[in-house]
Amino acid sequence: MTKQKRIALIAHDNLKPIIIDWCKDNKSILERHFLCGTGTTAKMIADQTGLPVYAYNSGPLGGDQQIGSRIVEGDIDIVIFFSDPLKAQPHDPDVKALLRIAQVYNIPIANNVATADFLIESKFMNEEYDKKIPGLQEQARFPS
Ligand code: PGA
Repeated sequence: MTKQKRIALIAHDNLKPIIIDWCKDNKSILERHFLCGTGTTAKMIADQTGLPVYAYNSGPLGGDQQIGSRIVEGDIDIVIFFSDPLKAQPHDPDVKALLRIAQVYNIPIANNVATADFLIESKFMNEEYDKKIPGLQEQARFPS
């Protein structure tokens, strides 16, 4: 991972105001990195903060899967995903798949504001980080 991180931003509808406030609070840090997100989240953050956020499809239309595939390709370093713990989502299988693949690839992933705060303030945000995929590389599931 280079100093400039590739950060994916996702929030379910009830959490969108919270991720937008979090992005506003951390704008000076976030503007040093590459940002992307699921469609509606990305557009709302870009509109309300002025930060450039590349938009994938909306989550229910495959955006979570697109971000999962970018993780597999090695193109995303960090995920901020404020999922809604109180409301069922029609695309729950996609959400689960994204969380699983992020775990497989040892992606730092924040699912609430406190975790996102700790992550964004980490010293590793300002330096290179040698990310391993513990336990899985040995199983030869990954190309060397
Ligand atoms: P959205 O998707 O940003 O397009 O609303 C988020 C999600 O529901 O996963």
